[in-house]
Amino acid sequence: MRNRALIVGILLAIGVFFSADLHEARYQEKGYDFDILIKNAKVFDGSSNPAVKAEVAIKDDTILKVGRSIKGRARKVIDARSLYLAPGFIDMHTHVDQGMYFPENRACLNYLKQGVTTVIVGQCGRSAWPIFEKAEDLIERWKKDGIGPNAALLVGHGQVREAVMGMENREPTPEELDAMRVLVKEAMEQGAHGLSTGLEYLPGRYGETEEVIELVKVIAPYEGIYHTHMRNEGERLLEAVEEAVKISRESGARVHISHFKAVEKNNWGLVKEACALIEKARADGLKITADQYPYKFSSGYPYRSLIPRSAWLGENEAGRLEAEDLDEIFDHLRDGHLLNLYAKTTPYIPISERHQQFLDELPRKRLVELVRGQLISTGDFQGPANTRERVLFVERMENPEEAAKIRSGVEQYIESMAGAENIIIGICVDKKLEGMSLKQIADLKGQSVADTAIQLELMGARSVPLRMSEEDVEFIMKKDYVATGSDGTAPFYGIGLTHIRSYSTFLHKIKKYGQERKSVPVPHIIRSQTSLSADIMNWKDRGWIKEGYKADVVVFDLDKIKIKTSISNPHQYSEGVKYLLINGKIVLGNGRYTGMLPGKVLKLKGR
Ligand SMILES: [Zn+2]
Repeated sequence: MRNRALIVGILLAIGVFFSADLHEARYQEKGYDFDILIKNAKVFDGSSNPAVKAEVAIKDDTILKVGRSIKGRARKVIDARSLYLAPGFIDMHTHVDQGMYFPENRACLNYLKQGVTTVIVGQCGRSAWPIFEKAEDLIERWKKDGIGPNAALLVGHGQVREAVMGMENREPTPEELDAMRVLVKEAMEQGAHGLSTGLEYLPGRYGETEEVIELVKVIAPYEGIYHTHMRNEGERLLEAVEEAVKISRESGARVHISHFKAVEKNNWGLVKEACALIEKARADGLKITADQYPYKFSSGYPYRSLIPRSAWLGENEAGRLEAEDLDEIFDHLRDGHLLNLYAKTTPYIPISERHQQFLDELPRKRLVELVRGQLISTGDFQGPANTRERVLFVERMENPEEAAKIRSGVEQYIESMAGAENIIIGICVDKKLEGMSLKQIADLKGQSVADTAIQLELMGARSVPLRMSEEDVEFIMKKDYVATGSDGTAPFYGIGLTHIRSYSTFLHKIKKYGQERKSVPVPHIIRSQTSLSADIMNWKDRGWIKEGYKADVVVFDLDKIKIKTSISNPHQYSEGVKYLLINGKIVLGNGRYTGMLPGKVLKLKGR
């Protein structure tokens, strides 16, 4: 039996050898020099230079030639007249790895349609699923089943910490720190590109600077990179940047700041000082970079209630569920809960023993509380749809003293979110109000902001607060060390309210800032999503249209970019990308998905 297997193996090997040889011979016999020749395109090479007319020839997964006029025959010729060509876009910051656990999301079509050919995942310290199933298992499965874009993995500090210490709020013992080092090293050995933190989340928040430095020191010898969702993006932004700089200085590793911004009105403008800190560190020789998504609203769950929980629930009940508690519960539960769902819907994903234990040991009553907390914190179970809460609320509004209290609470809440002029109504039964600001609607109705907010809330409206300023967004975007990172996900098409960045980041940035506002030159934007990203990740074979580089190529109609997603209707693919090639394979042809999954997991070679 064994012998027979051996013989079959040898025969197969010979077969593969001959057929590869035969394929090459036939190829040349037919006189083909290339697989694909793209003609007549205006080419952005990845630098911040303007586009020039050129031809690009591709064979297998490589750009073989770039020139004004290429001689030779190609199996397929793409006439890109009136179109632009650029290196495929590299997304420095995505959370698509969570959605990609589901086979139907593995193509990441929402990203392909934006021209994205490579994503970096395992971000914000928490999405390092690799720890629970090992990076190599994830890599193996993606290799076997195929993925749309190329993907590079980071190992998440939060996940490593949780694996070793659970959700404990304390410093690690020397043994625990060692155990964390081992997990980080293991991920690096298996091909991860570096470490990510979510220092604003749990349990990442419990990790002091010194702990992070120790773990970043593990990735430094591999020339790995440290991506950080910093401890604070609001009033303590500068302290957070200083911490990132310190981590780079003491670990010797490259540091990359994720979704760089200043949130909340009072902190707008702080980005100038934050950039000055980064630039000083760069002048000192440290390698510090950042990425940004080109929107004024943040968060994966941007759709908010218009009045605070305390207004809905009254002080007694709200006091029981403090906002921070809810966030903690939500963060804490998220991984275990989601993993449980994954396990149910995707049978081949093993639920980790640790998570199973967590779920098993949780007293029933506590679980109900947690789930209720989660539902309330996501807004699904709160407010107008909850009959009991609605009745209690309306009753309280009939008492003048209570009503005055509620109104002033709502006013403060609106101001602290972003101010009425910066709160946009995303979803409303009265469709003509969608897209208007709360201030505009209050003016239209001739009512106070608070009364308008309460009325809209009772109608079940959902709002989106603009937490960043346009001036800040553009200030950051102009920096030559700031790449593009969507911070988006691979959502189920049409389900839930997702941030529009998942559908539009790359083309929106070109269209709005390069073409409409003209505040940032288009080639600068192209560079920020191609060669700059590759440079930050230390890749020498992607991010440019150059001979010998991998054939990740986007061909797009610069003048006909269409962003169809909106905060009222987020699940809409962007239009404008005509051809998209990943590793030399056509994944979008004439704007249509070809069904190919040619993405590779890009591994960092360990030393
Ligand atoms: Zn983040």
